[in-house]
Amino acid sequence: MEVYEHESRQRVLNCRTIRNCSTNEPTYDGSGSLSAIHKQVPSQPFIRPLDWAFYPTLCEIYAWLDELIDKFPKIVTGFNIGRSYEGRLIRGIKISFKSGKKAIFIESNIHAREWITSSAITYVVKELLFSHNRDVRTMAESLDWYVIPVLNVDGFVYSHKKERLWRKSRRPASPDCRGTDLNRNFGFLWGQQQSDPCSTQYAGPHAESEPEIKQLKDFIDSIPDGVIKIYVGLHSAAQCVLTPWTHTKELPEHYDQMMFVAKAFAKALATRFGTRYKCGSSANVLKRFTGGSKDWAYAVKGIPISFTIELPGKGRLSRFELPEQMILPISMELLDGFIGMIEAVKELGFGGQTSRSNCRGECVQYKQSPQFHEHNQFLAKKFKEDFQNKSDKIGEHRVRTQEKSKQSSVPQCLALI
Ligand SMILES: [Zn+2]
Repeated sequence: MEVYEHESRQRVLNCRTIRNCSTNEPTYDGSGSLSAIHKQVPSQPFIRPLDWAFYPTLCEIYAWLDELIDKFPKIVTGFNIGRSYEGRLIRGIKISFKSGKKAIFIESNIHAREWITSSAITYVVKELLFSHNRDVRTMAESLDWYVIPVLNVDGFVYSHKKERLWRKSRRPASPDCRGTDLNRNFGFLWGQQQSDPCSTQYAGPHAESEPEIKQLKDFIDSIPDGVIKIYVGLHSAAQCVLTPWTHTKELPEHYDQMMFVAKAFAKALATRFGTRYKCGSSANVLKRFTGGSKDWAYAVKGIPISFTIELPGKGRLSRFELPEQMILPISMELLDGFIGMIEAVKELGFGGQTSRSNCRGECVQYKQSPQFHEHNQFLAKKFKEDFQNKSDKIGEHRVRTQEKSKQSSVPQCLALI
């Protein structure tokens, strides 16, 4: 047993992996000189193995990715899209059980303070690789998965070390203010929103001005057209599934199809604890802005199913500071939601006749069941026991998948299977 401190607390964990965590962690002297930022210094002495009972640091996530790459060399491929402004690698993994599959692309933690997103998506990744549940296995192996657990690496590290509620990147935006809202910097209808460099939603000096976004664009451009069929930007804490558009309340051409998938996600997610997600177009459910990733993915890259998924929050003042015991139930729900989503995409055809329905009216119940909270402690404890016993019982719950309808069932159109 190893004992170590984290944020003024002491933890006792069964640490099988204790490594020095200096790898890829640059120092930055604030001068703006890129030559100063590649010094390698130990910044955190130990890493903890992920168990979804705490919020991992970037280093811990990267160490975990390395373990997966080592353990599954024929299935998991590591990649990086380049370095952030402060010089950190922006890393991801591709999970592919068979060649020639279509793909889902997931970017997470583009907003630094939304820690639940990287925690939840790493849980999904774990299940894709380790679960024996039939529904999970079918989902995992029916398409390729590109996952970048932390896109805004500089902001994420800053939110861990200095300012918990930091949202933006860390490149100086003016003499007084740092950071760009990276989810306002994509190259579709950029520039119709916040131009104040000190705003938390500053869009940058021009489209794709930020290295994190430019390199993400270049990486996605390197994947052959037509391979990526689903794009997900993972956020918190509005508890909803959002389709394009974000700049207008008018609905996109494929709104019906995307809502069919969004509703399948929300329905499957609700099965476990009764949690209800809103769903609808971004501008209709939340607010209007431009330069976001899902509109870019849909409009510029032609990816037919493009979502923002907003995970839940808690409280009004600190809705991004979810208690750690909520990581696991929210992550399990996300996995359930993905099962419903992928099932729906398989059923969906763009020549299909999905009926136009107002999903807001059906999915708008915006509350969690009492059982959700009551189960938190139990589930976290059970999961840790299962994890330590190297068993994999989480996910055995069978999710009722989306009911097939004659109108919507046009199989193979997306050629996901
Ligand atoms: Zn966000």
